Amino acid sequence: TRFHDLDLPHALLRAIQDLGFEYCSPIQAESLPLCLDGYDMIGKAQTGTGKTAAFLVNLIDTFLRDPRPNRKPGSPRALVLAPTRELVMQIAKDAEGLCKYTDLNVQEIVGGIDYQKQREDLRAAPCDIMVATPGRLIDFLRQNEVNLRNVEILVLDEADRMLDMGFIPDVRRIVRACPHREKRQTILYSATFSQAIMDLVERWTVDPKSVII
Ligand code: AMP
Repeated sequence: TRFHDLDLPHALLRAIQDLGFEYCSPIQAESLPLCLDGYDMIGKAQTGTGKTAAFLVNLIDTFLRDPRPNRKPGSPRALVLAPTRELVMQIAKDAEGLCKYTDLNVQEIVGGIDYQKQREDLRAAPCDIMVATPGRLIDFLRQNEVNLRNVEILVLDEADRMLDMGFIPDVRRIVRACPHREKRQTILYSATFSQAIMDLVERWTVDPKSVII
């Protein structure tokens, strides 16, 4: 499949072309049509497969087709959770590249960066796509600097690593602050699907389609 054949908004297609992507990778070819149809999805894929662009294209496509004029600071339409600061920064960078011809804003929330500075950035502009590690996001939620009630799409990236690193209690609280699973789209990626991961899938998704690469 070529990106060109997916009927994506022009601003998104141009950004994809700027990145030099012409053909969808296998995970993109399989997951994009499902996600664009609004299904929940669980994906078994390692890094290097193009899974980041796979979920970001879905988010951006959805938001460009259905713009929200009155967005508020700290209240994203999409939340992407990932286990490490490095991964969050990479995802946010890819998201900014894909959003460059749009007015969608990307906000990254990670520990190890000055809290006050991040809070100022959060307050400065409405945010559409929030990319976060669980720990720092919990801090902002507690301070009411972040409100997740408008989240339409929730992405849990590298869920198995979040589990191994002990983040699941935090993730659980974050998911509880989002709209109910019937009222959002949930996309979960993991390199492995243990019983513990399947329990989360059971709790957090509705009839998910699975894509295995
Ligand atoms: P990821 O698996 O998301 O970490 O992506 C791995 C690398 O593949 C990243 O450097 C992407 O920029 C690149 N990439 C993602 N999708 C495509 C594509 N369709 N064509 C070429 N490169 C891609």
